[in-house]
Amino acid sequence: MSDYAYLLYLLSSVLFILALKGLSSPESARRGNVYGMVGMVIAIGTTLTLPVVTNYMLIALGIAIGGAVGISIARKIQMTAMPQLVAAFHSLVGLAAVLIAAGALWSPESYGIGNSGSIKPGSLIELSLGAVIGAITFSGSVIAFAKLQGIMSGKPLRFAGQHMINACIGIGIVVVLFMFCFSESKMLFIVMTAAAFALGFLLIVPIGGADMPVVVSMLNSYSGWAASGIGFTLGNPLLIITGALVGSSGAILSYIMCKAMNRSIINVIFGGFGDSAAVDASGGPANDKPIKSGSPEDAAFLLKNSSSVIIVPGYGMAVAQAQHAVREMAQALEKEGIKVRYAIHPVAGRMPGHMNVLLAEANVPYDSVQELEEINNDFATTDVAFVIGANDVTNPAAKNNPQSPIYGMPVLDVANAKTVIFNKRSMAAGYAGIENELFFQDNTMMLFGDAKKVTEELVKALKA
Ligand code: NDP
Repeated sequence: MSDYAYLLYLLSSVLFILALKGLSSPESARRGNVYGMVGMVIAIGTTLTLPVVTNYMLIALGIAIGGAVGISIARKIQMTAMPQLVAAFHSLVGLAAVLIAAGALWSPESYGIGNSGSIKPGSLIELSLGAVIGAITFSGSVIAFAKLQGIMSGKPLRFAGQHMINACIGIGIVVVLFMFCFSESKMLFIVMTAAAFALGFLLIVPIGGADMPVVVSMLNSYSGWAASGIGFTLGNPLLIITGALVGSSGAILSYIMCKAMNRSIINVIFGGFGDSAAVDASGGPANDKPIKSGSPEDAAFLLKNSSSVIIVPGYGMAVAQAQHAVREMAQALEKEGIKVRYAIHPVAGRMPGHMNVLLAEANVPYDSVQELEEINNDFATTDVAFVIGANDVTNPAAKNNPQSPIYGMPVLDVANAKTVIFNKRSMAAGYAGIENELFFQDNTMMLFGDAKKVTEELVKALKA
């Protein structure tokens, strides 16, 4: 590789790091994306000029087919389906790592790692690690996709001796990996990779639906490490750096998500969060306790007579795409001199930053959007907490019910506001499948209906 190629790869790496930095805040996220795109164009352009690249026709065909599929999926995909899309894409990264490792083993000369039967020992270790991590990523991501897409039940699938079987397969893979590195046997490579595919499957099936986004983020991390391993095989420094960036940022994200849900990463891997407590998805009241409910006009009256409002968005706002109506409502209230802010829980919605992205799309000013730690004490001095499509992130059970599956998760203290307006369509539970005591509180008014429709009616009432 020439010096100029190394230099351009270094430039791409710096741009990728700047992209990650930009993505850490909604204000700089667009800039971050641009850095990432420019970095990728430089990376691909540089790779295409390397002397090892000889068949431009095949590459152009691959880019055309992959690009067309990618564009059509990206245009159609709903924001709420993003976690399963990410899982599906990661499965491809894992599979690519396995295929490159196999290619390197069958044709080491093309990769410059030695000759068949005498591949360099370092390269054998790298390609086997890439294949094993890639295979686990592939089958694990396919299961995560199936669970999130509803093709497979989100309930944890457990059977006796599961952990023991996984441990045996894990140890078996390590043993075969060593034997393969000494013998360079293609048969052992196939056995090792097949065992890793099975391990990926077995590791993910016992994990419940609610923990799946954390798993997706972990698989993202694995796919980065697999790519990094393959970077060593290919002797490509940019792939090593980029893989390490994906690997470490995915691991950090998993840690942040676990922290926000007050769950240990080990618990997520070996636990079962999604099968807890019965869900009342019937749409009717979960029990005989009385509730108060009102119309959009009632809500408008309460809001108009307040001096401060905190809006708490959740998954339902994303499903209904109600963010523009919410912004309009906030503007109408601000016109009346009412102070309006937004409280964002770190795991509201179905992916980190989900609410920030939606609110940014609706041009909500960044300074009125506040994180849980910044705003939680202010509920006690707020007139109205307007909860729109959120549920678990407000559930006091996280604080006062040690039996609850969300016990320990920090929640937004909306109950402390003078009045709570709770918009959702029914009395059904949220993602964790548990009832929310808030619905039955004296100061709560349920506002039933689709978030967008109800908010639009509310805006009409406010303007009337
Ligand atoms: P929840 O899933 O707890 O609740 C969302 C509520 O929205 C539901 O109760 C539903 O009630 C309501 N809803 C659905 N559609 C509509 C609609 N069209 N209009 C109005 N309401 C609607 O969401 P939260 O955001 O409060 O909490 C997120 C959950 O996801 C937490 O349990 C979190 O741990 C989990 N999670 C989040 C991750 C993240 O990164 N953000 C990652 C992993 C897990 P109804 O059906 O009655 O309308």
